[in-house]
Amino acid sequence: MRVTAHAARFARGPLAPLEYEAPPLGPDEVDVAVTHCGICLTDVDMVDNKWGISNFPVVAGHEIVGTVAAMGPGVDTKRLRVGQRVGVGAICGSCMRCEWCEGGKQNVCSGRVDTVMRGHLGGFASHVRASHWQFVQPIPEAIASEHAGPLLCAGATVFTPLLRHGVRPTDRVAVVGIGGLGHLALQYLAHWGCDVTAISSSRDKEAQSREFGARHFIATHDADELKQAAGRFDFILSTVSADLPWDDYIAALRPRSTLCIVGVPEKPISIHAIGLLANEKVVAGGIPGSLIETRQMLEFTARHGIKPVVETFPMAEATRALEHVRQGKARFRAVLVA
Ligand SMILES: [Zn+2]
Ligand SMILES: [Zn+2]
Repeated sequence: MRVTAHAARFARGPLAPLEYEAPPLGPDEVDVAVTHCGICLTDVDMVDNKWGISNFPVVAGHEIVGTVAAMGPGVDTKRLRVGQRVGVGAICGSCMRCEWCEGGKQNVCSGRVDTVMRGHLGGFASHVRASHWQFVQPIPEAIASEHAGPLLCAGATVFTPLLRHGVRPTDRVAVVGIGGLGHLALQYLAHWGCDVTAISSSRDKEAQSREFGARHFIATHDADELKQAAGRFDFILSTVSADLPWDDYIAALRPRSTLCIVGVPEKPISIHAIGLLANEKVVAGGIPGSLIETRQMLEFTARHGIKPVVETFPMAEATRALEHVRQGKARFRAVLVA
């Protein structure tokens, strides 16, 4: 199969056409013809080689929606058929036989195949290849294709912590950062039944946060507001890549509660141990998402009519769209349309 991709040849380079012939399909592999692909900050980081792990050429894109173009002979035909609308997220395969895979935690498998890392070619392309068919997720009919892309990474990233950390409808929760991740987190937590507080640096996003389901708003440029929230929250989800006054956030937790971090701040996270010790508080991280968590996220999203707010760009303008995301201008998520 002939694939046309939009590839970066070097760090921060423009995305230029790359044509290649895909090798024959392996037994469990699936080729997806891409119709839509969201742009995640990780895509920018891979193109920019921010973490020093990019193998060029880099074809980014791991919020992929399209149709099944071809399937290997080992694919379960009760689950997938050629032409079906499907999605592929940040992980497109795993070993399927380690303790984590067998225990339903494929996202922490050491043999995991990340869709845009270690030379795997992602979704800014005509086609993408998933290493294992189980990671090719049928998309519920109620979800539009342009909305489905951002759910597969951003949506799963903020939804799975609710499952993993046992967030309950009676909980008072806070979301830090109202961007691509945060605006989805507010919607999930509100529909989950929680009393939701949005936390942002300024009041600019207060009205929008309330539309997404926040009942309360804290602006951190007024440092007192966060300090006044000491002991208030059962769960805090931080989506920002900024360095925060982490001790204030630990202080804002109730006893035995969790600060879950899904953004990647520039500097190491520094927390005074006393803040954790005194009331058994927890700091956790996580990446999206196991197979079942991703499926539950899609079902919950469809059931409640949750939608990411997206800006669309033609696939041919991938360079411009990537720059838009790099500059933090996306409101709230950018999606390439083939
Ligand atoms: Zn992502
Ligand atoms: Zn495994």
